[in-house]
Amino acid sequence: MMTQTNPPATGQAAPSGDDENFTEATRIPLWDPEQDDVLVCRQVRQETHDVKTFVFSAREPRAFRFYPGQYMTFELPVEGMVTRSYTISGSAARPYRIEITVKRVPGGPGSNWLHDYMLPGKEVNVSGPFGEFTTDATGEEKLLFISAGSGITPMMSMTRTACDLSEPSDLCFIHAARTPADIIFRDELSLLAAQNPGLKLAFTCSTAAAHHSWSGYTGRFNIQMLSLMLPDFKERKVFCCGPAPFMEGVRNMLRDTGFDMEKYYEESFDFGAETAGTFEEPVAAPEISGQTFRVSFTKTGHVVECGPGMTVLSAAREAGILPMSSCQRGICGTCKSKLISGEVDMQHGGGIRQREIDQGKVLICCSTPLSDIEVEL
Ligand SMILES: Cc1cc2nc3c(=O)[nH]c(=O)nc-3n(C[C@H](O)[C@H](O)[C@H](O)COP(=O)(O)OP(=O)(O)OC[C@H]3O[C@@H](n4cnc5c(N)ncnc54)[C@H](O)[C@@H]3O)c2cc1C
Repeated sequence: MMTQTNPPATGQAAPSGDDENFTEATRIPLWDPEQDDVLVCRQVRQETHDVKTFVFSAREPRAFRFYPGQYMTFELPVEGMVTRSYTISGSAARPYRIEITVKRVPGGPGSNWLHDYMLPGKEVNVSGPFGEFTTDATGEEKLLFISAGSGITPMMSMTRTACDLSEPSDLCFIHAARTPADIIFRDELSLLAAQNPGLKLAFTCSTAAAHHSWSGYTGRFNIQMLSLMLPDFKERKVFCCGPAPFMEGVRNMLRDTGFDMEKYYEESFDFGAETAGTFEEPVAAPEISGQTFRVSFTKTGHVVECGPGMTVLSAAREAGILPMSSCQRGICGTCKSKLISGEVDMQHGGGIRQREIDQGKVLICCSTPLSDIEVEL
């Protein structure tokens, strides 16, 4: 699962529907995240042996407004219904389509369903865009993007957007893959780097034995490689995305060099991190009465006590239940569940529509019980 562990990277707020500074170049209506929720698949591209890009647009032409690095949450009709978030990998300067790039995770219901069943013409319900992991690579600041595996997607969107809008002023993009055949967007990134002198590119592969033509860096990404690739890395703002162990390695490596970690931003796709309890604590609402309430999960049959100020998600975890969740701040909508009875105080951050609230849905990551409750989970 992916989460933001930093405050907004640029201090920017996500674009809102009533932002008057947004230029409308055409008369194509805007996608309204509160009302619109259906995307139609228009194209599927095989990127590597286990990665595909899916290109969507709205049923009728709509302009999407998103910051590069933001993601959307998809409802996929597998195992009943699963909700999965995917970063928009396309350019924010091409606002009529939404591209996502998905790695097939062995045994994973959502990614396998997309790979096997999402074809041109198919529709899917989505919400978003959400997220705060973004930066402007055309600005004055010196930037360093470090990604691994499918963690390349937010950086790819930022890079494509910067190249579409003007030229990245001083951006170094380092991507780590397992083998040369696993490097996503290799040709396109190489072309962008050839066309944009402000974009410097480096790939590193953990193993390249079977690829005799590989002349790039080989082995685990480390400080010697970074110093060779980019001697001025300490002067840069760093954006990192990839599996939790990779990001932990990058964090430790930078910290050991005395890098100013205030200039380090990261986002992770890793569920493991969450179950290991290394995510940010879910938002706890202010203590209301000091009372404890009973939370019944109707599908699993679990009943847990929810202490004062504790979210329903925290209570579930304490009882050993691991409901799907992601941002833990009421933004992404992953933990949306049906409240069958009782009342909660929900302090969400935009991840649920009013009409869904009216239908009795709640985000359990930011909801604290105000009475005994029953949740369809
Ligand atoms: C905000 C956000 C943005 C995301 N953006 C992308 C994206 O751009 N591209 C993308 O491919 N995925 C992305 N993900 C991950 C995606 O939401 C799913 O978790 C992923 O597709 C696996 O779903 P699944 O149902 O197939 O497997 P699950 O049942 O959800 O997971 C199966 C196992 O695979 C692990 N896993 C999950 N995701 C990955 C991964 N990407 N690589 C390796 N192991 C993984 C999990 O830890 C779990 O153990 C994003 C997640 C979040 C929260």
